Amino acid sequence: MLSLKDPLLLKTQLFINGEWVKGDSGSTFPILNPATGTEICKLASGNKNDTNIAIQGAQSAMQKWRQTTAKHRAKILQKWHALIIENIDDLASILCAEQGKPLAEAKGEILYGAAYIEWFAEEAKRIYGDVIPSNNTSQRLLTIKQAIGVVAAITPWNFPNAMITRKVAPALAAGCAVVLKPAEATPLSALALAELAKRAGLPKGLLSIVVGADAIEIGKALTDSSLVRKLSFTGSTKVGKLLIKQCADTVKKTSMELGGNAPFVVFEDADIDKAVQGAIASKFRNAGQTCVCANRFLVQRSIYQEFTDKFVAEAKKLKVGNGNDEGITIGPLINAAAAQNVHALVTDAEKNGATKVLGGAATHLGANYYLPTILTNVTPQMRIFKEEIFGPVAPIIPFDTEEQALELANATEAGLASYVYTQNYARIWRFSENLENGIVGINEGIISSEVAPFGGIKQSGNGREGSKYGIDDYIEIKYLCMGGI
Ligand code: ADP
Repeated sequence: MLSLKDPLLLKTQLFINGEWVKGDSGSTFPILNPATGTEICKLASGNKNDTNIAIQGAQSAMQKWRQTTAKHRAKILQKWHALIIENIDDLASILCAEQGKPLAEAKGEILYGAAYIEWFAEEAKRIYGDVIPSNNTSQRLLTIKQAIGVVAAITPWNFPNAMITRKVAPALAAGCAVVLKPAEATPLSALALAELAKRAGLPKGLLSIVVGADAIEIGKALTDSSLVRKLSFTGSTKVGKLLIKQCADTVKKTSMELGGNAPFVVFEDADIDKAVQGAIASKFRNAGQTCVCANRFLVQRSIYQEFTDKFVAEAKKLKVGNGNDEGITIGPLINAAAAQNVHALVTDAEKNGATKVLGGAATHLGANYYLPTILTNVTPQMRIFKEEIFGPVAPIIPFDTEEQALELANATEAGLASYVYTQNYARIWRFSENLENGIVGINEGIISSEVAPFGGIKQSGNGREGSKYGIDDYIEIKYLCMGGI
């Protein structure tokens, strides 16, 4: 059993229109701890009827909310932020139990997630319109920015807290209401956040949480509804493409945070020790299960061996185990199927000539675990070069020239994050400008922050989360043309 200071933060029902409910079907599904395989609890399983009730409630709650002042909305968001910080230990325990990441990392995610709420509470007050110089002296032209309408949000299991606040906070700040469907593997963090939002005084209906064993049914109810004007999705490229299609019939605005295939490029003039530190942070955080994790290490041939040796030495220090235990730096993957997928990529690479210099198959810890793994002699033809690994595996590919590095880096349909290590300032500019990615880490492996725009190009999606741009996804621009002046 999960032991919490405030046991009321562990919720086992849906949160619809400000109430905890067991849902239309009355059925439940189990939530498992990936570190132990044990059941944390059974959760009410929502369906399309629950989703439609939540959408109706959101539409009606929004009418009042959108008319409130930004200052009023900001106050409630700030209260929510404060309650999250107060309850960080419990929220981290819930997150660690359902998702598997080490407790310290879970706490980091709670702080990171809460920072979006604080940020958008501040940004709520800065949704400015324009006065546009007119071509006609008898007219005055203005724009105002207004809440887009009911927002549907669908979030993944790798950041069960932060992916929610990144979407919900700007939506609420802009004056919208949200119906959220968290991942069925990790809904408990979202539900605990909803409980704290309720305690912060968020009026009912502005945030409803529907989750169930059948994600497709709930997703369809969200995309089919003409009341829902916006869908914000974080997840796989495959599901993102499907949801964009489903949104076409009602012409919803969408923002998509999809898969990545981040290149991590190390030039011979880089500070190798710093590059190794960045590589460890970027690759192994959350056991490699982030969409900005380095997926392909491109290393200049003259330093290939030195980088590899140092990288292996550092990776050996990582400690795999139950994230709730002291000193663990890599937890389990989300489930056994995820570990099998990672292993299939490693096996395919080895079969095609890659050399395993560290790690490999799962350990005695169980089928959900995978050891930190480093592969050399990887080529662009291998599956592991082309696909998102989503596990603690680092393939290293040599290159000779800057042109070749750029070609390899951009040889993917994904375009989320990238990393480049070099001391040459001209190369920093040249290379960063030519990388086909939404985010470039330059001599830096950890790039996410609520103050900066997070998002991808190409098939990694569209829209930006966080920063002054993050609110744009939740507003419409209305043009007012005043004549007869
Ligand atoms: P992952 O492979 O990382 O689990 P998914 O894209 O499958 O990524 O899942 C991300 C989110 O999308 C989860 O909340 C999941 O339940 C949801 N999801 C998956 N398939 C669908 C679908 N067809 N319609 C709506 N939501 C979906």
